[in-house]
Amino acid sequence: MRCPYCRHADSRVVDSREADDGQLIRRRRSCPECGKRFTTVEEAVLAVVKRSGVTEPFSRIKIIGGVRKACQGRPVDEDSIALLAQKVEETIRAKGAAEIPSHDVGLAILGPLRDLDEVAYLRFASVYRSFDSLADFEREIETLRAAARAREGAGDGDGVAAAGAAGRTN
Ligand SMILES: [Zn+2]
Repeated sequence: MRCPYCRHADSRVVDSREADDGQLIRRRRSCPECGKRFTTVEEAVLAVVKRSGVTEPFSRIKIIGGVRKACQGRPVDEDSIALLAQKVEETIRAKGAAEIPSHDVGLAILGPLRDLDEVAYLRFASVYRSFDSLADFEREIETLRAAARAREGAGDGDGVAAAGAAGRTN
């Protein structure tokens, strides 16, 4: 690793420490040329495989962009969106896979987004699941109602099962 201070071509690792529950490793490095120290972070590259087969690095910024669009005009603040994106990334990284289909990324967004704002969830789900009829919306809304009933304790087993089938991830 090149020294960021003097551009010397090599550096020595003086300390390695796991962070974020072992998700990444921080290394303290020392430059043999100028003696300065700097830190590097190493983490596994997570690739998202798109439908076309093309892969791209996972991007939390992209998640935030998609969710922000779905939340337009809704009483959802930026902090909540950032937190959701963080949750999604944690869910995906927890799977421990080096590659993840873009479909699974969308799936990981649906659960937390439903908890955040039901209208935004419907918008996102309608694009993500390619809703093409009113019936699709009706079915999704019925699922939301069933989940709400289940939360209130007045629901039946069907409601919980339907909510699970809709891709709840937490
Ligand atoms: Zn140096």
